[in-house]
Amino acid sequence: MNKKLFKSVVLGAAAVMSVAVLAGCGSSPAEQTASNKLVMGTNAQFPPFEFTTTNNPLVETFDGIDVAIAKKIAEDNGKELTIVDQEFEGLVAAVSTGKVDMAVAGMTVTPDRQQSVDFSDTYYTATQVMVVAPDNTSIQKASDLVDKKVGVVLGYTGDNIVTDDLQVPEANIQRANRALDIIQDVKNGKLDAVVVDSYTGKALAEKNGLKAIEDPEAFEAEEYAIAVKKGNTELLEQINKVLKEMKESGEIEQLAEKYNTMDVE
Ligand code: GLN
Repeated sequence: MNKKLFKSVVLGAAAVMSVAVLAGCGSSPAEQTASNKLVMGTNAQFPPFEFTTTNNPLVETFDGIDVAIAKKIAEDNGKELTIVDQEFEGLVAAVSTGKVDMAVAGMTVTPDRQQSVDFSDTYYTATQVMVVAPDNTSIQKASDLVDKKVGVVLGYTGDNIVTDDLQVPEANIQRANRALDIIQDVKNGKLDAVVVDSYTGKALAEKNGLKAIEDPEAFEAEEYAIAVKKGNTELLEQINKVLKEMKESGEIEQLAEKYNTMDVE
């Protein structure tokens, strides 16, 4: 072999190797396990849809309505469900970059999110509520929040509503990564209200001796759906098939009832 040829063979081999190394490092958990695992991204701070528990959890340490739905989807595809628990704010990016196969997180379909991910058929209708102290009389409707101290969870639809629609001044908004933390601040009087999804808000209010106030005129209906990477129609169709079956058989309603009466931490 002449010198030049030898050099190009070595370089070629090095290039192939570095591509292989890069591919190894760069492949996401979803891609590495694509064959037998279905990777669900969620934020397990959202009872009764997803939460962690030591009391007989459904998958790993996780339980909830979304976990039950996702488990069904995985089983239907002959796959094992793996759960990645992360901050809600990064979920859309995790789906669109393929870090997870799907986000099942009580996620409301919004035009903004639809630009980055595809959504399944919807499976639950919610709205926002205001969680306040039991003796609070100054907050009866959403517009009362404008001069109050309000907590929201970062990146939730509640954050957008308080910030953009109700125009609560920035200085009066506290953003947290967990609804549980700001609910504590309503309890100890640091915040006047937390704006959060209805099912979760009611459950947290009940658990913490607070009250959840609705305002259907200000807070629109929100539809939850499962997000997948844009163009992943194969998974989307499988998800929609399972959702359809679960809706028709009444299973989703049963799950909502089951987790409503369950003590969810
Ligand atoms: N439904 C709300 C949203 O999509 C909150 C979801 C969640 O906390 N998991 O922003």
